[in-house]
Amino acid sequence: MAEEVPGARIHHEEENLESLYRDVIFEHYRRPHNKGPMRDAQIVTKGNNPVCGDKVTIYGKLGADGKFTDVGFDGIGCAICMASSSMMTEAIKGKPLAEAEEIADHFKKMMRNEAPFLAPANMPDIEALSGVRNFSVRVKCATLAWTTLRNGILQYKAEREGQAAPDTKKEQP
Ligand code: ZN
Repeated sequence: MAEEVPGARIHHEEENLESLYRDVIFEHYRRPHNKGPMRDAQIVTKGNNPVCGDKVTIYGKLGADGKFTDVGFDGIGCAICMASSSMMTEAIKGKPLAEAEEIADHFKKMMRNEAPFLAPANMPDIEALSGVRNFSVRVKCATLAWTTLRNGILQYKAEREGQAAPDTKKEQP
């Protein structure tokens, strides 16, 4: 993003939108949804973003119907990482495994500007992360939880197929 020019007039609508986004992100940061260690989760995966120092653990519980009955996270990180993790848990809860993978992939594509930005209907707050795309070093902060979830799903599927998770499939955030 361009440096702010002193005295430059910022369009009021843009200013309001930016502060709204900031409020949404900080609200999730201050009061994260589904944060804390989860017992008896089938999916437990760690991820980290060394550039920023973000570290997350993603937890997932799956019902007999293959849908996520619970999704949670724990960890430490910047406001963007923690807010995105919080939003991810809400977006994925209740979704079948395959759909969860699609949602995670789509989120990462949006953040990399490879797909139009469209927040899931069940978690409209995700819209607030759209501005992060303008700061390339922070994109990984936003995608960490989603990449970690994706790795957890791959690992879970591989284990169920009775084979070890191939490391080559493991994606970096
Ligand atoms: Zn970060």
